[in-house]
Amino acid sequence: MVDCNDTCSEGGAVRVRFAPSPTGMLHVGGARTAIYNWAFARAKGGTFVLRIEDTDTQRSTDENTRIIIDAMRWLGLDWDEGPQVGGEFGPYFQTQRTQTYRAALERLKERGAVYPCFCTKEQLDAKRAAAEASEGGYAGYDRTCRNIDPAEAKRRIDAGEPHVWRLKVPENHGPIVFDDMVYGSMSFPADVMDDMILCRTDGTFTYNFAVVCDDADMQISHVVRGDDHLSNTPRQILIYEALGLEHPVFGHLPMILGENGKKLSKRHGDTSVEEFRDRGYLADTMVNFLALLGWSLDGETTIIPRDVLCGSFDAARIQRKDAVFDTKKLDWMNGVYIRDMGAASWALAARPWIEQAMAQGYAAEPKAIVVEPAADGSPFAATAPSPDDVAAAQAAFADDPSWFEQLYPLVAERLVRLDEIPDKLRFLFWGQGCVLDGKSVQKVLLKDGARAQEALGLCRQVLADTSVAWDAETLQLACRNLGEAAGIKPKLLFQPLRVAVAGNMVSPPLFESIVLMERSDVLGRIDNVAAVVFPDAQ
Ligand code: GLU
Repeated sequence: MVDCNDTCSEGGAVRVRFAPSPTGMLHVGGARTAIYNWAFARAKGGTFVLRIEDTDTQRSTDENTRIIIDAMRWLGLDWDEGPQVGGEFGPYFQTQRTQTYRAALERLKERGAVYPCFCTKEQLDAKRAAAEASEGGYAGYDRTCRNIDPAEAKRRIDAGEPHVWRLKVPENHGPIVFDDMVYGSMSFPADVMDDMILCRTDGTFTYNFAVVCDDADMQISHVVRGDDHLSNTPRQILIYEALGLEHPVFGHLPMILGENGKKLSKRHGDTSVEEFRDRGYLADTMVNFLALLGWSLDGETTIIPRDVLCGSFDAARIQRKDAVFDTKKLDWMNGVYIRDMGAASWALAARPWIEQAMAQGYAAEPKAIVVEPAADGSPFAATAPSPDDVAAAQAAFADDPSWFEQLYPLVAERLVRLDEIPDKLRFLFWGQGCVLDGKSVQKVLLKDGARAQEALGLCRQVLADTSVAWDAETLQLACRNLGEAAGIKPKLLFQPLRVAVAGNMVSPPLFESIVLMERSDVLGRIDNVAAVVFPDAQ
């Protein structure tokens, strides 16, 4: 590992960039690259640039660009220059930078560092096929056009003959060496480098050329990117040299592997930041977790809030070893962040899932008592909300957002992902209806029906007594006292109530939940459940 201070362009300002090609969602590997650049810039008091490499016009749609920008914003990776914020080195979209590339190509022409190549695709394919069949194999373009007399080349160009522009890789260059921030001293033989195309027949520019022009133009000091770009780096260094420019410091990040040791891909499940967001992982978790895929603060600390990350990101601690994406660790970390975030931030982040819980709650008919799974074994479908339910839920949240902060203590302790919220909380919004879990009904209500009915009756008596404060502790104590007098232990007393109210023997804290509901709904629900489960008692 190299101390980047040593290799930094003469102690100049740190300017780094994240340069995604907007071809779909933001992959976690790309997000990690963005995080390292962002944290490095912040730790060094430098500048973080976002540049959109949208030259693949088929796939780089406005929609895909918006997706990337939204994901960056959601992660909280603020950029100092780039789309939406501007900056003195713009534009920050490659499709708007053609002038820059043209000017750089002219400079290379003047320096005699490029040559036009008139070989057609068919000719190139034939040469390649012949070379592949021969003993030595294909070693790149055979440089036929490199020796065309300049006057002749000019005549052919003026006559409109299609051509590309290739880099004239210098003869006897010697190895291309650079100090990588992560991999240390690297060396690539130059004599095997292809005279690569910089400008295509249609006048568009190739990736390696555009990136060099942009990084040079934007005065990027450190290029930190995935190691899938490692083989591009010697090529890009040749382009810098041809332009007569110093190259930036390069740093290549280790691969992210799935738990089976293979490169992380769709086969491993979710791989984009948006998918993790939609499953209820927090942005803070993702930034912390992804930062640790290939970097460590001190080799042991796992919870690294973003201000610590920004304050102490040391590029020398980026590891060479491939990192493994450990979903269990991600889940654990999300739980930690949920427990740490406090009610107000939680309610904001959890809003879509809280609204879902409400809408699903409203969807249960006010008095519908459904035992799940249904007797015929068909999947239960009573909680699919209608558009009206959804609208009503959204309106309820908008009306009084702070009310929902009270839900936090009900779930914070055990929540791993925010998408678990609807399952845990929809019972609060059933009104007088209830979706009963069949197993819980059997075990808690029917197994010893007489005692369950008695327990339910006692609790109902307390809950109906308007002289008892509607407060979790008071209600619980009053029920307990009544149960004790009747010789019913607290567990046997409260479980029937839990099943009648929450539909299930596992639920968030019972009395803390009950007090968030209307008294009339709680009583109505108990009565409705009793009517269905103990019909003979009516
Ligand atoms: N646009 C390239 C990509 O998305 C990154 C280029 C670079 O970082 O040099 O892979």
